[in-house]
Amino acid sequence: MGFPLDLSTLGSAFLFGTTLFGAFLVALWVSLVFWAYRDSRTRTQDRLLRVLAALLALVLGPLGVLVYLVLRPARTLEEVYQAALEEEALLAEIEARTACPGCGNRTSSDWQLCPTCHTRLRRPCSRCGKLMELPWKICPHCATPAPGTRLETVPVENGKPVD
Ligand SMILES: [Zn+2]
Ligand SMILES: [Zn+2]
Repeated sequence: MGFPLDLSTLGSAFLFGTTLFGAFLVALWVSLVFWAYRDSRTRTQDRLLRVLAALLALVLGPLGVLVYLVLRPARTLEEVYQAALEEEALLAEIEARTACPGCGNRTSSDWQLCPTCHTRLRRPCSRCGKLMELPWKICPHCATPAPGTRLETVPVENGKPVD
């Protein structure tokens, strides 16, 4: 009895397997290069840096991608843009909150009126004396309704205001 498989069949099977594995490696390598280039495109507008990222993946493969992952900018351009927008909106909100509605000058949150144009900004609570915003109908500190506010407009249940 001979071998169940002769050597040439074994050899071609080995060759087939090796070729398949090689093709897989090449595909993996190429996709790493594409991935590094695409990822760098979302993080930097510098063309040179993008090419460097792709080169790193091309020359060093998985190791290059590892190096790229360590060195790449932490935030994508989209995230940087969103953060800038949020910061701008926050600043505008703070600006609007501290600006006097009468003259636009900056005011402080503990002022009753604007020192420049004498616009009323806040009023003291009739009971505890703490400052209330003008639209507030009830004092948030001691729960006393503002003078002139009818109690029916401030729903109260068990002594606590409800909304
Ligand atoms: Zn003013
Ligand atoms: Zn009060």
